[in-house]
Amino acid sequence: MIDPATSPNGDSSKPRPPELPAKREVETITVPEGVTPAIEVKNLYRSFFGVHAVKGISFAIAPGQVIGFVGANGAGKTTTMRIIATLDYPTGGTVEVCGTDVVQYPGEVRRRIGWMPDDYGTYKNMTVLEYLDFFARALGYKSNDRRQRVEEVMAFTDLDKLSDRLINKLSKGMGQRLCLGRALIHDPEVLILDEPAAGLDPKARVELKHLIRILAEEGKTVFISSHILSELGEMCDSLLFINHGQIIHHGSADSLKKGSTSITQVTVEVADDPAKLVDWATMAPHVTFKEITKTGARIEIDSVDPEVISLVLKRMVNEGIPVIEFHKEERKLEDAFIEILGEIEASGQAIVS
Ligand code: ATP
Repeated sequence: MIDPATSPNGDSSKPRPPELPAKREVETITVPEGVTPAIEVKNLYRSFFGVHAVKGISFAIAPGQVIGFVGANGAGKTTTMRIIATLDYPTGGTVEVCGTDVVQYPGEVRRRIGWMPDDYGTYKNMTVLEYLDFFARALGYKSNDRRQRVEEVMAFTDLDKLSDRLINKLSKGMGQRLCLGRALIHDPEVLILDEPAAGLDPKARVELKHLIRILAEEGKTVFISSHILSELGEMCDSLLFINHGQIIHHGSADSLKKGSTSITQVTVEVADDPAKLVDWATMAPHVTFKEITKTGARIEIDSVDPEVISLVLKRMVNEGIPVIEFHKEERKLEDAFIEILGEIEASGQAIVS
């Protein structure tokens, strides 16, 4: 636990304001019994001069997991990540990386983590090789070991052909790979990546995603924030949603896509004019017409029961709709996120699946 009086910035020297909400209980759903979490955050608070950026969040991440950290601008992602990365102090609560407290033993934690900030400062007049060599030297690598490690990192991030290029001549994608390379030099067990894909074009995003997938296959724990939910869904074992400094959901992308609602969305294609389908959908029981499409319509069925869904299809066909496709839609992660926010506003509860 930190002594608030030693906190480096913000108003941590003040006691925690009484109006802050009580700790939300969020299960450590990803960590099996007896396993030391790669990251364990317990009742974490961080305030800056009256701005309560993080309000008593708790979560744990098992070793080898890839966890996406999702939230709107200002939700508290960077603040949380910076504390895990030993770059800021909590106002309250504790954080451990591989069982080591980030406040008491920051040096030990830094040996085990690789940190990629959302806005990294580079030394623009250095080459790729000089930059990585500089960090390898700072991390204590000597002579041949250092050369070998820098070469390995350049090969992994596909920067070996650019080793002599000045950093200010790199594209955004190359720069992000360089920053990832810097985070990897000491071969850390845990990677904390803050918005690594921000501002990248689709090709650069695919390249970065590929690298992260390899790192996950090597068994590294990856804690990654992003606004691009579809990408996180593909990459991550589970997603942690933060809103106004509180964890509001922790679950797999699949469970989010399925959703907890009692509605099934269906796209229907027909062999002739969709108008007939639209008329039918506005009258049929269990069905709500959503929108017309070029070749049919999107409808909602007020049930997830397969018998009800098949009954709707049967009735549609029996009543003369020339159906050529009847397709259950997966919810988009963005829709799931918005829906969860709506549920939270309505109930004030955190959701864990
Ligand atoms: P983004 O996606 O925009 O990066 P975020 O989820 O990472 O947002 P944070 O950067 O953690 O959000 O910010 C959370 C809140 O804390 C915001 O209201 C922000 O203005 C505030 N905040 C963060 N750092 C400081 C600071 N050093 N001083 C004052 N306020 C801060």
